[in-house]
Amino acid sequence: MERRLNRVVIVGASLAGLNAAEALRDEGYDGAITLIGDEPETPYDRPPLSKQLLTGEWDTDRLPLRSADEFEALNLDYLSGRTASGLDVPNQTLLLNDGDRVEYDGLIIATGAHPLSLPFGQHLDGVHTLRSQADALRIRSDLDRAGKVVVIGAGFIGAEVASSAHARGLDVTMIEALSAPMIGPLGEQLADWAANLHREAGVEMHFNAKVSGFIGDQRVKAVELADGTRIDADTVVVGIGVRPNMRWLEDSSLTIGDGLICDQFCRAAPMIYAAGDVARWPNELFMHFRYGEPQRTMRIEHWTNAIEQGMAAARNLLLESRGEPLEAFAPVPYFWSDQHGLSIMASGITSPRDEFRLVHGTLESNRFAAIYGLRGYLTGVVAVGWPRMLRRYQALIRKQATWEEALEEAREIEG
Ligand SMILES: Cc1cc2nc3c(=O)[nH]c(=O)nc-3n(C[C@H](O)[C@H](O)[C@H](O)COP(=O)(O)OP(=O)(O)OC[C@H]3O[C@@H](n4cnc5c(N)ncnc54)[C@H](O)[C@@H]3O)c2cc1C
Repeated sequence: MERRLNRVVIVGASLAGLNAAEALRDEGYDGAITLIGDEPETPYDRPPLSKQLLTGEWDTDRLPLRSADEFEALNLDYLSGRTASGLDVPNQTLLLNDGDRVEYDGLIIATGAHPLSLPFGQHLDGVHTLRSQADALRIRSDLDRAGKVVVIGAGFIGAEVASSAHARGLDVTMIEALSAPMIGPLGEQLADWAANLHREAGVEMHFNAKVSGFIGDQRVKAVELADGTRIDADTVVVGIGVRPNMRWLEDSSLTIGDGLICDQFCRAAPMIYAAGDVARWPNELFMHFRYGEPQRTMRIEHWTNAIEQGMAAARNLLLESRGEPLEAFAPVPYFWSDQHGLSIMASGITSPRDEFRLVHGTLESNRFAAIYGLRGYLTGVVAVGWPRMLRRYQALIRKQATWEEALEEAREIEG
């Protein structure tokens, strides 16, 4: 069945939203596109916020995702600094927090995620979370004052902030509730390696540690741990994870859980799609080893996925409007992280699995590739300083290779 598509509304003017808008134009859609974003800037890139912007190598002029001319050429109705506050699905209308209403024929939801805060101390000067350009500039200006930096949470964002602050010659302490940095994405198997990376760089670390409070009246002076340890702090960055931005959808008929729930086509409802950090969907590429399990879904908080899913959502919206079959979105997830001069890359599913094998290089040399497997299949790869290896195993994951086939590939490469 064909559906009218004269006006597409995209909520979230960042990586996924921008790529969705571009894909619509690339595919020949010449109707109206309204892009709604609650930040004042034109779409900008977030990865440099914890890296080059904090170290001072870059300024904000390097952050925009497109030049002014490229953005202009998309011919969007760009509502910046405006917030979607509700969605009326039956009437195909979006509500804005200033009372305005925006009608749509097709809707793409790309509202991303927001960082979690601790239940205390977030009002103190010197205590930060990091998601936006404004957050990064506030942190940078605190780092300019020198002093002691405490990073709470050793996930990728926390570990990158620690690395950037350390690169500026600052005294950095990282506090993590688990037993090592980045356990979620790298698994227990690389825990010692990840801890050593930071330890050898000179970052002080507290693992299995619970933050119980902050000391300070106006400005933070120290962080207190549950065991009574007091760590002096002039700047604190809390990096304890993110939650998808979905509160504005709570009264809509869409299904929300840990993310806006979509089908394999990134569709949340007829003519409504989601993309990027906010979207949860079943990735068909990873269903083959999940026999007998209820359908598993993914929500990916990485740069490449936001681009690819934004494009996929836009294409499927156009296909649906033409009454044509939709295309399942089934990528091999990928991310990179830069820490202490090393590039850490991962692809597929890498968190604790049945199988783990260091297949190339050595941990001591900080140049290696390790693979992860589940139920006889290759599921993921981590490569440090070796992008070529990452791509080899990424291609195997795409082909749904078995664990034995992956080991065979490793033997062939090693010759
Ligand atoms: C500091 C930092 C470093 C990172 N480094 C890496 C890295 O090295 N490698 C990697 O792979 N990934 C990295 N990422 C992750 C990557 O940047 C994200 O996955 C990506 O930005 C997600 O894009 P998105 O468009 O889905 O969401 P976002 O970029 O979060 O954009 C969503 C937009 O929607 C807006 N919005 C939210 N709610 C509303 C509303 N109700 N109305 C209007 N607008 C709304 C938000 O303000 C935001 O502008 C990093 C992220 C951060 C924060």
